[in-house]
Amino acid sequence: MSDCLFCDIVDGKIKANVVYQDDALVAFKDIAPKAPVHILIIPRKHIVSVSDIAEQDRDLIGQIFQVAAKLAREQGIAEGGYRVVVNSGPDAGQSVFHLHYHLLGGRQMSWPPG
Ligand code: AMP
Repeated sequence: MSDCLFCDIVDGKIKANVVYQDDALVAFKDIAPKAPVHILIIPRKHIVSVSDIAEQDRDLIGQIFQVAAKLAREQGIAEGGYRVVVNSGPDAGQSVFHLHYHLLGGRQMSWPPG
């Protein structure tokens, strides 16, 4: 999609620190990390938000969580614990409107989130 930062990362037009990619997904380090480990996992396909996930995206969403768990193991945060967070819509703080899952870990998290 034109005018989408994360589509530009998928297309290689904007550089990112990519830690994983396959046919369906790309994962890269967040440019402004909120935890020692902060990786964004995105579908190559442009989906705006959780509200736009379609029936045919079911497998894709399952794959995202599998990749999150794999990256958590690789990054050494699986044992201590981690969060997989999706901000969906303006009130949740979504700032890039291409579906992305934040993988956060490496520090104690508080609850509830701000
Ligand atoms: P959200 O606020 O949930 O939409 O998250 C968007 C995330 O994208 C933020 O954590 C930003 O720091 C991150 N971000 C923005 N631009 C880039 C970029 N060029 N490379 C990596 N992460 C980015």
